[in-house]
Amino acid sequence: MEPPGIEPESCSPAQEPPASPAPPAEEPEPSEAAPAPQQEAEGVPPVAQGSRPGGPGSKGQAKRCGAGKGSRGKRGSTRRAGEEGGRPARRAHVTVDSSKAKTSLEALKISLRQLRWKEFPFGRRLPCDIYWHGVSFHDNDIFSGQVNKFPGMTEMVRKITLSRAVRTMQDLFPEEYNFYPQSWILPEEFPLFVAEVRMMKESDPPWKPTFIVKPDGGCQGDGIYLIKDPSDIRLAGNLQSRPVVVQEYISKPLLIDKLKFDIRLYVLLKSLEPLEIYIAKDGLSRFCTEPYREPTLKNLHQVFMHLTNYSLNIHSGNFIHSDNVNTGSKRTFSSVLYRLSSKGVDIKKLWSDIISLVIKTVLALTPELKVYYQSDIPAGKPGPTCFQILGFDILLMKNLKPVLLEVNANPSMRIEHEQELSPGVFENVPSPVDEEIKVAVIRDTLRLMDPHKKKRKDNQSQLSENSSDTKDDLLEPGSTDQLEHDISKNPEASLPSLCLKQVFPKYAKQFNYLRLVDRMAALFIRFLGVKGTMKLGPTGFRTFIRNCKLSNSSFSMASVDILYIDITRRWNSMGLDQRESGMCLQAFVEAFFCLAQRRYKSLPLHEQVASLIDFCEYHLAILDEKRLVCSRGITERRAALVTCQPDGLHLTPATHVPLLNRMTAANKLTDYRNYRS
Ligand code: ADP
Repeated sequence: MEPPGIEPESCSPAQEPPASPAPPAEEPEPSEAAPAPQQEAEGVPPVAQGSRPGGPGSKGQAKRCGAGKGSRGKRGSTRRAGEEGGRPARRAHVTVDSSKAKTSLEALKISLRQLRWKEFPFGRRLPCDIYWHGVSFHDNDIFSGQVNKFPGMTEMVRKITLSRAVRTMQDLFPEEYNFYPQSWILPEEFPLFVAEVRMMKESDPPWKPTFIVKPDGGCQGDGIYLIKDPSDIRLAGNLQSRPVVVQEYISKPLLIDKLKFDIRLYVLLKSLEPLEIYIAKDGLSRFCTEPYREPTLKNLHQVFMHLTNYSLNIHSGNFIHSDNVNTGSKRTFSSVLYRLSSKGVDIKKLWSDIISLVIKTVLALTPELKVYYQSDIPAGKPGPTCFQILGFDILLMKNLKPVLLEVNANPSMRIEHEQELSPGVFENVPSPVDEEIKVAVIRDTLRLMDPHKKKRKDNQSQLSENSSDTKDDLLEPGSTDQLEHDISKNPEASLPSLCLKQVFPKYAKQFNYLRLVDRMAALFIRFLGVKGTMKLGPTGFRTFIRNCKLSNSSFSMASVDILYIDITRRWNSMGLDQRESGMCLQAFVEAFFCLAQRRYKSLPLHEQVASLIDFCEYHLAILDEKRLVCSRGITERRAALVTCQPDGLHLTPATHVPLLNRMTAANKLTDYRNYRS
């Protein structure tokens, strides 16, 4: 995990505004060809283009500016959609508030310049299209536009929460989720940890395991240590106050040049509902700085051998700053892949395994994320939409199986590193490897989130619909003017192709069967009741049971209450979130598993759960239909009464209550039975 904004102050924008900066009296809408210099006008020194030799940008920008000018005033008499008086319409720039971007500011600025979008480094009185936050959704109070963070993401990817979420999926789909090392949450699972390890050792005597202990909420390798036996856990003192995740240590990682390394991949969660996931085609590989040896009691403490964290290894005398993407202690992932492929490794298979790991992990995180989302941005209330770049840390085992180490909600987007010029004297110098990967990820994330793109698309489809009369003009062969016009209308025309690849919904068909917790979360959210809450009260749970027809003679409402109290009390005693009382989603999932096991005894767990979800959804669909028919009936009756009685005030009590459309319900039941069989 990476800490938000922990980098030295000098790396965050020196121009951090005072608490409430005075914005310019009125903000002029930027003209079409008014690119980055606007930043200077707002008092922020521009980042020198020349200081980033490897960085894409200035060339394409100059070209685009030229194209924009060239296209002006030359338009023919045919007026097209999006043009005014024969000139290209002024394309309003996308506006981005970067005042809370923190350490991602440098990379963001370069991206915005490449896109020719308008940056507001001190924030803006008017709403912006996009808000770029360095730390969390709550960095600003925002009511519109888009924010690059989801509420609750930081909490969701903490070591304990992630382990719990993955474990729930492992309970349902053990094979599919075996990419996450076996983990225990301490102190609460200490006895379980001891018992399970003893059992495994008894059943497999040659097994000599190693475990890695990671403090919850820790980052950059802080507080991490390796142990050979559960009794080596440092239980003293603060374990209660700082819980840990203990994990099976992957002792046979893939090595390059005898060094252990891990992969940082950037994943864009573009939307939660519907789920849209993109993966960056390239990432970073971070190398250890001591040759790897399998853990022994003697070398357990050698962090430069066992931990791949950049923040630790940079302090090793062996650390090599990379001046190109193929060498050094931090390289591009593509350079590693190239190396592996030259040794005959099946790179396609490796990528497909990684994509599958990413999709499955996101599927484990999103159900609870939806609970956070509806709590912060309740449906029907004004609020922004969200997207987020996540950093996935992945280890490759010797047999090339990818293993998930952790997910970062705030992956470092710094594109420079500290270099010690002379003892004790440090300077920030550009890091070409970081810049190549991170700028592309930010820029292409923005391209995918471009709020004007949809409008442009709509215009274009309208244009092609209306094009029959102007067709000859549009397709004039060899018209460079047309090309310039296209570039000025769409600066993207001169940008490289997107570095982000869509993987969901693209591969949804293969993964949708895993979305059981997601469907349970939908049930949970439906019965939460009060907007903004994240926990289900006893009444909500009872209503869930009643509406889904889950109680019967052998499972009374009294038993329902006992189930609720038992599970809720246990989850709350774990002390995860004491802010609200009630049943959290994970507790609801546990209760749901109990209910499913009672009802469908002989099936495997995931089938029991799937059957119960089908059953609940079916009964809720009937209920919804009933309500719809009733409300339609009421509306129709009201309309009839209003017509009969012109003053519309004397509504008589209902004389005809519409009944449930039994035919439709019966059809649904048949569908359901067919589906089940
Ligand atoms: P942090 O948030 O402190 O960086 P990580 O979970 O990323 O914590 O662990 C730090 C480093 O420890 C990883 O980069 C990796 O090199 C190593 N590591 C973590 N978990 C395992 C594991 N289960 N097996 C082997 N190495 C691991």
